[in-house]
Amino acid sequence: MNIQTTVPENGQRAHDGLAMVIGGKLRQINNSFDVLDPATGQAFASAPEASQQDLDDAVAAAEAAFPAWAAMPWSDRRALVLKFCDAVAAEADDIGALVAQEAGKPLAKGIGETNGGLFFVRGFANLELKSEVLRDTDNQYVRVEKRPIGVVGAITAWNYPALLALWKIGPALLTGNTLILKPAPSTPLTALRLGKIAKNIFPAGVINVLTGGDDLGRWMTAHDRIGKIAFTGSVDTGKAIMANAAPTLKRLTLELGGNDAAIIMPDFDINTQAEELFWAGFANNGQVCACMKRAYVPSELYEALCSRLAAIAANVKMGPWNEPDVELGPLQNRQQLDIVTELVEDAISRGANAFFKGDVPQSPGFYHPVTLFRDVPDEARIVREEQFGPALAFLKYHDLQDAITRANDTLYGLAGSVWGRNIDAATAVAVRLQAGNVFVNQHPSMGPEIPYGGIRQSGLGVECGVQGLSEYTNTVVVNIKKD
Ligand code: NAD
Repeated sequence: MNIQTTVPENGQRAHDGLAMVIGGKLRQINNSFDVLDPATGQAFASAPEASQQDLDDAVAAAEAAFPAWAAMPWSDRRALVLKFCDAVAAEADDIGALVAQEAGKPLAKGIGETNGGLFFVRGFANLELKSEVLRDTDNQYVRVEKRPIGVVGAITAWNYPALLALWKIGPALLTGNTLILKPAPSTPLTALRLGKIAKNIFPAGVINVLTGGDDLGRWMTAHDRIGKIAFTGSVDTGKAIMANAAPTLKRLTLELGGNDAAIIMPDFDINTQAEELFWAGFANNGQVCACMKRAYVPSELYEALCSRLAAIAANVKMGPWNEPDVELGPLQNRQQLDIVTELVEDAISRGANAFFKGDVPQSPGFYHPVTLFRDVPDEARIVREEQFGPALAFLKYHDLQDAITRANDTLYGLAGSVWGRNIDAATAVAVRLQAGNVFVNQHPSMGPEIPYGGIRQSGLGVECGVQGLSEYTNTVVVNIKKD
């Protein structure tokens, strides 16, 4: 396993030299940008910065590969996708270390994310989109087919570099599209590693991996020969992509941000459920699209739950990705640290009480302490906006209707959860949450066969499940008059 945090004497760093994949070949270019280790704030590698010409070449290669790939039987494409999974699995420890270092998460989580992503792709491969015969009479035959769109552009965020890439590679390729994958600029390395493996498995041009900044995303979104953009990222970028894709009327899947509410029921069992509730908000340092981002707690449980959560938080160790026993790392990038810091300062300026503030390592890395707030006004930015970091507001409620109204008072609609001992009672509240995913006694929970997506300003369309595969296709009707 390649674990390296400093620049060696020869100046060559462990992951320098990872190249883009275009038309089945590695493309080495001179332009590159630094990749920072969030635990140190220092560059530990570099990645190629694609030009518009690189993108045009990738699109041309993907277009050339499309007819044969789309014509291949599903079972043959599936076999290659599974072969790819096996090849990635063989390097999962190494790739997981790369995920951990570039995303700023503990090593075990980086490896777990890689294997988890493969679990999803293998699950997608067990699904199938079939043609459906709607009418077959003496004089008419009507069949609905799901045909691949063509060249798909996938643009991803930085919180799960392996999972988000695999979530797009699997469905796009299984359904017969060819792909151009662009990871987030702050976590480009994992995608380059995946591309290097994929290049030896899929026909040339079926998968292309390009790295670069936001401009590369804009060029992809405007490109007249890319038929669909599958995007995971922030609401603002989702809106920009939608506008930029309008002139070419691209198909879009937008998996955007959220401000997920959790409602704690009066019968919530603090002894057995508080730990899971804590991690519903703090897994991956709160940098999860669908995780608890504000919690509504009944007044009778407020004191006891706050003190229990503080005790749980006190045992959580924060540190760099390669240190044993670390459960949470730094934030992934400086901008995200600034956002969380701003929201925390805003809450404090409005009189919120930070009843727990954790320790952070002495380091120039992008660390923010685990921070638990009580007595936060509903207007505070940490209640209204997505923090995407390790700070959370626990809000008091007096009756359930009040909690449901406040939970739904948002433009987001990604997910929500309800927690309590009586599952029927919790479910009755959960179904009143206006979100694409409602959870009971968990947050989140996903699976390859379970569609996942946001409503309102949290997104457009779904990923996963047969419905997620369907988003990578055009619906074509074959309608034959027989007599
Ligand atoms: P971001 O929107 O800043 O960037 C995401 C990607 O978009 C990056 O690859 C970036 O280079 C690219 N990009 C930026 N501007 C672009 C433009 N104008 N046109 C095309 N591409 C552009 O998001 P982020 O900060 O990387 O990620 C954090 C956000 O992602 C959070 O809001 C989080 O909730 C969301 N997210 C959502 C899901 C989900 O499934 N719903 C999953 C993970 C993260």
